[in-house]
Amino acid sequence: MSNLGSSVSSAEVKPAALSSTSKHSEETSVERDYKVDWLRCAPFFAMHFVCLAVIWVGWSWTAVGVAAFLYFARMFAITGFYHRYFSHKTFKTSRVMQFFLALAGATCVQRGALWWAAHHRGHHLHSDEEDDVHSPHQHTFMWSHMLWITSPQNFETDLKAIPDLAKYPELRFLDDHDVFVPVLLAFAMLGLGYGLNFYFPSLGTSGWQMVIWGFFISSTVLFHATCTINSLSHLFGNRRFNTKDHSRNNVFLAFLTLGEGWHNNHHFYPASVRQGFYWWEFDITYYLLWTMARLGLIWDLQPVPKRIYEKAVEHQKAA
Ligand SMILES: [Zn+2]
Ligand SMILES: [Zn+2]
Repeated sequence: MSNLGSSVSSAEVKPAALSSTSKHSEETSVERDYKVDWLRCAPFFAMHFVCLAVIWVGWSWTAVGVAAFLYFARMFAITGFYHRYFSHKTFKTSRVMQFFLALAGATCVQRGALWWAAHHRGHHLHSDEEDDVHSPHQHTFMWSHMLWITSPQNFETDLKAIPDLAKYPELRFLDDHDVFVPVLLAFAMLGLGYGLNFYFPSLGTSGWQMVIWGFFISSTVLFHATCTINSLSHLFGNRRFNTKDHSRNNVFLAFLTLGEGWHNNHHFYPASVRQGFYWWEFDITYYLLWTMARLGLIWDLQPVPKRIYEKAVEHQKAA
């Protein structure tokens, strides 16, 4: 999902759901949304294909362990920082810490915090309506899951959606140079692999094996797991709250995304730092944020108000 290249080559993909609109001679705004900029998105597609290099570099417990660690650590950066902080401001922190939260998120190859938050705020404004760029109820499944990212209409960061964040030049810098941090991570993996191979050859890893596992496979799996919250969590699961959208609570997705699977809860009350509203709705992101608060790194974690729990009981009775 990098920002490489310029928008010079576009091919149009028209899902079946749009076949009726394509009859119009004039291109509508909806049709323009379905363009894929193959050239600009070549690094994004390449990230997937390069994973196949595992055939040549093989595997080791060390490389797989580093990949798994980076998956969970960076999933927390997405859920705790890009989502619960930058998109929803469910807790407060210092300006310096805010920069480090954005830097951690930038390692995830999901572009900058401003771009991510602007799109996500749009999702909550127009959930499952026509203007929701990644709704599986408005678009095909693949478009809602990942292809919306490849549309030139969704490349830019809508600064009007994030005035509270756009005023910080250091965040704008990270957003404007969103390739920089992922490239650094890839080189760090190369160095780690070479270093381990040199000092601990019994671990059976190598520079390129670590790049493929620690960067490419880990980032690709992280990307698709994140995208399940756009796609699958608006299709499969239970609905505690009768929200206007199709959001659902899904225990499997909650495991995969460290607590984001309680998506129906989140759509009903996005202002809370918790998405698992009850003790049995495990929410690892919340536990980690709570720990960061205890360490004084962040503060003012927004709770789930009593009236929301009362609403939950009301909605359950009405169901
Ligand atoms: Zn949603
Ligand atoms: Zn949200």
